[in-house]
Amino acid sequence: MSKSFFLFVSACLMSLALANEPISKPSKPSPPKEGEHVAAEPKAESKAAAKEEQKAAKEPKGKLDSKAAELARIKDAQAADDLAAKIADKLVEIRKEKEEVAKAAVRSGTRTALPRHAHPSTPEKSTDKHGEKASPGEHKAGVIHWSYEGDGGPANWAKLDAPNSLCESGLRQSPIDIRDSIRVNLDAIELNYKSQSFSVIDNGHTIQVNLSGGNYLNVSGKTYELVQFHFHRPSEERINGRNAEMVMHLVHKDRDGKLAVLALLIVAGQPNAIVQSVWNNLPLEKNEAAQAIVKIDVAQLLPKNRDYYTYMGSLTTPPCSEGVLWMVMKEMVELSEEQISIFARLYPMNARPIQKPNGRLIKESK
Ligand SMILES: [Zn+2]
Repeated sequence: MSKSFFLFVSACLMSLALANEPISKPSKPSPPKEGEHVAAEPKAESKAAAKEEQKAAKEPKGKLDSKAAELARIKDAQAADDLAAKIADKLVEIRKEKEEVAKAAVRSGTRTALPRHAHPSTPEKSTDKHGEKASPGEHKAGVIHWSYEGDGGPANWAKLDAPNSLCESGLRQSPIDIRDSIRVNLDAIELNYKSQSFSVIDNGHTIQVNLSGGNYLNVSGKTYELVQFHFHRPSEERINGRNAEMVMHLVHKDRDGKLAVLALLIVAGQPNAIVQSVWNNLPLEKNEAAQAIVKIDVAQLLPKNRDYYTYMGSLTTPPCSEGVLWMVMKEMVELSEEQISIFARLYPMNARPIQKPNGRLIKESK
């Protein structure tokens, strides 16, 4: 072997050694060392060399010396070509193996980062998530349930389930910090609510009140029906950077399925009779709706002053669907300290963090 060929082989071996550096602990046995390949290799080239030697033997004696030198060069070149091809193949093989190891590492990493029991994964009613039906794949065994902290927390919602992608990529997400709004004469919100029966469910994310129907909200010529209302602590939306102690979200749906949420910010003060009726009917078990034997008139929840802020946003829970009309009442409603503390015992913190406004227009009653 010539010196240059030896250098070439050494360089190839070094590049192989670098390419073969493991990313993490390799789960498979490491590939055989390259030296073994080099040693096991020269069969093809020896055949070619033998032919050349036979030809050379027939040549006249005077030409033999120069011919021998040329033969040696050809042999070196052939060996180098063969080796280069084999090294290229080996590199492809090693790269594939590395990719597989990396993928396996990512998979096992995800499993350790997101343990299965981040949240009780008991089945929920379809009325969860602001009236939207739960996605079919949500409660598969081993799927991490969304929550407000830890591995199932808001930063990971999009990663937990493909339909939640808007939680991360959406540009009209809720809640927001309401500021820099435009003061105009907003259309009055007309409420046609009536006394009706209700059921209460603790769905693992909040306390929710489901209503039988027949309560309507009219705004800007559109009619929405009240589906359910629920609570967050502290309030998800902020006004000029400040949140309230709690918020009630009254979720309405129009005939096309478009959502409109009326948000009532809550401050500590006088006890609220409607909320007391809800607390009186809190179910003893999660995910089991408790039908109340009394009725409630939701209209009594609302403040006297109907001025409000409005903007477009999303559900504040997975799947974070957008196109939701938000109306936040300026005047807060009161709950007693005791009523607030009852909810706080069940849900001390169930508010999604503030989302970027992304240049959204916010209008406010003048
Ligand atoms: Zn809500």
